[in-house]
Amino acid sequence: MPHPSTPTQIRQVEQILPGRPTHDGAGVKLLRVYSYSPELNLDPFLMLDEFATDEASDYIGGFPDHPHRGFETVTYMLDGRMLHQDHMGNRGDLGPGDVQWMTAGRGVIHSEMPQQTEGRMHGFQLWINLPSDEKMCPPAYRDMPSPTMPVVDLLDGSGTVKVIAGTYSNGLDPISGPLQGMTTAPLMLDVQMGAHGQFLETITAGHTAFVYVYEGEAMVGDERISARHLAVLGPGAQVQVNSLESDTRFLVLAAAPIGEPVVQYGPFVMNTRAEIEQAVQDYQSGKF
Ligand code: MN
Repeated sequence: MPHPSTPTQIRQVEQILPGRPTHDGAGVKLLRVYSYSPELNLDPFLMLDEFATDEASDYIGGFPDHPHRGFETVTYMLDGRMLHQDHMGNRGDLGPGDVQWMTAGRGVIHSEMPQQTEGRMHGFQLWINLPSDEKMCPPAYRDMPSPTMPVVDLLDGSGTVKVIAGTYSNGLDPISGPLQGMTTAPLMLDVQMGAHGQFLETITAGHTAFVYVYEGEAMVGDERISARHLAVLGPGAQVQVNSLESDTRFLVLAAAPIGEPVVQYGPFVMNTRAEIEQAVQDYQSGKF
């Protein structure tokens, strides 16, 4: 019989996923770090992309009009500017440090286009699933300009934590991000550390959790993770990351699994094949 977990148990790395170069939209080069498959289901997360380039030709085509139904998209910009516009007239002009959290719900048709013709473009797009009873909810936006998200010092003074969603426990002084009250209770932190720093955070037991190192190198639990690799975490109480390089940056993501069937067809993520067919039909007949 296995020993019960102790409260200080560190979550260890179960799998390492390298970002794979690909392109999407109108020829935008990006790294696909994770995408859902029946064999690799980080429920409720569906996808994580990183785009990072100094070459305008890698991003200038942007993502012209395309639909989404049944989940949420989170865009986090580090460098550059992207304009999001949808078919209902919603606009979000995202600059460095800004986040747009879009609940596609029953349907959004939007474009995501760069607002620059030169210079660096760097950011992330994350897809998070919705439970079946929220998949057909009205679309909703939470635009979060950078200053609305708290940035707090790590306890050892080695760096900072930007709290994008959920609550960072910060020892005994919890700091909450602007995004709260969602069914999947997502935690999204962007951590920046100097060399020999330590990040230690308690994550709700049973929540899916992973760390994506996007600059530098770090020990995640007992495993060495280099830049542009995602570390899928196993069960335990705490996430521990020790930086090995002077500019180490990583995202910490966690959320409550939904535990429902996932049927994905491109930008539509539903529970059944019939619901996907309905989504395609609704989109093609202009019902979004
Ligand atoms: Mn989109």
